[in-house]
Amino acid sequence: MKIKQIFQWLFGSNNQKSSSSQNRMQVGNSARMQKMMAMLSNTQDVELTCDEVFAVLDQFAELAAQGEDVSELMPLVQRHLDMCEDCREEYKVLEKIILSTA
Ligand SMILES: [Zn+2]
Repeated sequence: MKIKQIFQWLFGSNNQKSSSSQNRMQVGNSARMQKMMAMLSNTQDVELTCDEVFAVLDQFAELAAQGEDVSELMPLVQRHLDMCEDCREEYKVLEKIILSTA
């Protein structure tokens, strides 16, 4: 789920509610907020898009080339690479460039 969708889900429909239901609304919102926080902290449920991976891929490849534990530092990128062949190919190209200039 995208952050934007979460915020739409949280705040999107509030404006149309009448003021008489405000108290109940607030209770509902805090429960939703707790649910959202739990969701955000559970990174296993968050998936990056190819664009997001491309944006950090050179950094990721450099860290990997330096022997850093990238699956610990950038687990979501690692996870995406495990699933996405396009990004994995791009990563291999970057890795080659980095290793050849090291
Ligand atoms: Zn991808």
